[in-house]
This record gives sequence, structure tokens and C-alpha cells, in this order.
Amino acid sequence: MSLPAPSRRPATPAQAWAELVAGNARFREGASDHPHQSVQLREELAAGQTPYATVFGCSDSRVAAEIIFDQGLGDLFVVRTAGPIVDPGVLGTLEFGVEVLRTPLIVVLAHTSCGAIRATLDAVAERSLPDGFLRDVVERIAVSLLTTRVQQSPDPDEVGLTHLRHVVSLVVDRSAAIRHRVEAGALAVVGARYDLTDGSAHAVTVVGDLGVRSLALE
Ligand SMILES: [Zn+2]
Repeated sequence: MSLPAPSRRPATPAQAWAELVAGNARFREGASDHPHQSVQLREELAAGQTPYATVFGCSDSRVAAEIIFDQGLGDLFVVRTAGPIVDPGVLGTLEFGVEVLRTPLIVVLAHTSCGAIRATLDAVAERSLPDGFLRDVVERIAVSLLTTRVQQSPDPDEVGLTHLRHVVSLVVDRSAAIRHRVEAGALAVVGARYDLTDGSAHAVTVVGDLGVRSLALE
């Protein structure tokens, strides 16, 4: 198993998303290929990386990007925080992924039954913020609630979708580099949600052009 020729690496937002959709389908069916994990490839990759997608996901131990999309070494450039939440370090990492590594796709990856979302809803209900830097996580998720009407007993997964849409718009709004590449058609930002139970990842929101082909794959 060796590194795919450059011409076979996904080069457009639509191709990159299609590759992730195909990998997730393999994982979901219990038919993962576990590609790009040989000793030979590991040694070849020491000379440099050419990942084709940047993934910004929740730190949850059940949502490892390379596993749920059935990818290997050198395929994905990944940053993960609880929630996930955006901060300057995350934005800088995403800009590295698109400006330096030239990945044509950013996937913001949320998931069902997220503990960070639950912790935020508990803090709102109890009108009490957690101590330490966990407070920063809760505060950054709580901001997402400003854009929606919070019910008496909100569904955490519905709130998670609201947060996901907010994070996608935040990434594009805050980073001029990302926004300009989206406007140029060189980048798309997909907000996707992973279902812990059935292993599927579905696009919830898209900024940029994913092409006609990808619409059928969502
Ligand atoms: Zn989570």
C-alpha cells in the first residue's frame, strides 16, 4: 500500500467530500479498509504531507475522524476541541490546513449526545458556570444559544445542530483567509453531524460549492 498518486488525491471540495462519504459508508457497514497505515507509507510520509481535507471536530473519544471516515496517515489534517468550540488556536490551525496545506475542504464535525452541549444546557438551567477553563467551553457553546429560542426542556441534539451551524458561520466570518478561498471556489466548509449509534455522518450545512454530485451523497 503506497501513497496515492497526486492526481488521484481529491483536489476539489466535491471530490474531498465524496471521499469522506465513501469512507464513512465503509465504516458504518463494518467494512473499513484501514487505508494508508503501512510501515512503507509511514516512512514515505516523513518527507511531507498532502492531506486532502481539514476536520475540526469534537474531542469526544467516540468521534475519531480517521476512524469514522476510514482514512489513514497523511489523509486528514485534524483539530479537535470539546463542543467543538472556536478559539484563535483553532482558527490558526484551520488556516494552516487551507492556506499552507491547500486542503479544499473543512469539515466541522459535531455529534449526537455531546457531553459539552449537555454541560452547557445544565449550566444554563442551573444558572451556574463551571470552574476553571471548562467555563470557557461552556461560555463559547452558550453563545450559540443566543441565535435560537431555547425551550423549557431543550433537546440536546437540537441544540447541538444549532451550535454546529453557528460554528460553521463563525469560522467563515472570523477567518478572512477561509472566506476568500470559499468565495474563490477553492474551498467548501461542511457542517456534519455524526450519529454515535449508527456510525453515520451527514452534512447539515454547507458554505461554498460542493457540486451537484455531492448533493446526492448527503
Ligand atoms: Zn462532543
